[in-house]
Amino acid sequence: MSDITVLGIFVADISFSGHKIPAVGETILGNKYNVGPGGKGCNQAVAIARLGGKVNFISKIGNDSYGELALETLRKNKINTENIIQDANLQTGVAGILVDKNSGKNAINVIVGAPSTLKINEIDNQINVIKNSKIFLTQLEVPKDVTLHCLKVAKENGCITILNPAPASEISKEFYKHIDFFTPNETEAEFYTGIKIANEKDAKLAAEKLINFGIKKVIITLGEKGLFYSDGKEEIFLKASIVKAIDTTGAGDAFNGGLAFGLSEEKSIKECLTLANKVAGVSTTKLGAGNAMPYLRDI
Ligand code: ADP
Repeated sequence: MSDITVLGIFVADISFSGHKIPAVGETILGNKYNVGPGGKGCNQAVAIARLGGKVNFISKIGNDSYGELALETLRKNKINTENIIQDANLQTGVAGILVDKNSGKNAINVIVGAPSTLKINEIDNQINVIKNSKIFLTQLEVPKDVTLHCLKVAKENGCITILNPAPASEISKEFYKHIDFFTPNETEAEFYTGIKIANEKDAKLAAEKLINFGIKKVIITLGEKGLFYSDGKEEIFLKASIVKAIDTTGAGDAFNGGLAFGLSEEKSIKECLTLANKVAGVSTTKLGAGNAMPYLRDI
């Protein structure tokens, strides 16, 4: 089995479920809360491991109770923790998540904590794991210079690179040439292209624009509408799975994990997209992020 390396963050997700997401200045009485593992990188690593993939996670945590939750989550899911940097002077990240229990929609504030201090020289101590991997997957939650450096090293060493450009934020043109797969959701795709995505036609236009930037393959996830893929020649549109979504937190992470796993198994692009779409759909039927990632048997 080939390795997949994920660079990203772990945060403790503290989620509050209620009949609505409160407006500014409003207080509501919710119905339940949950503390569980989150952070896009960690969720994506968990999704891959639960599908049966061999995963290394590169990240940074503090030496506090949420740091313990991070290590426990990774170990329980059989994710390699040798590349986790622990610094007692820093805090492990947390995220405050407000969930509308009727629609499953959410609003999130992430405090990155320890990994916001990641430096290229620290990462260089962990770089061999990227060099020896088949797939390298990352997001935009750690400092950009570190992300770019790792994408570059991954590409130079023959990895398939996936950038899940979330949360949406400015990236230099240099990023684009080191990316094989770029996987924004609708809002992120709009941020990078200026094209508002309401239907398949808009997704097609946005994908074309991203391919012109130098990215090889684009997948725009469209929430409950599914996804659109393009490599500039082949185009694929898939409808989302029909599920009863109760919490869509981490759907995109489940999707990216499914994609990375499919690619590591050398499945065709259509098979990878079908798998990722199913994994993401099932993830919305459970509360939470990391803990909502399905196992192979669930899909
Ligand atoms: P993000 O979680 O990053 O905002 P999306 O909302 O686009 O990303 O969701 C990612 C993927 O999750 C979709 O492409 C789809 O496969 C799946 N998904 C999301 N919401 C639903 C839903 N309500 N029903 C079924 N699948 C969904």
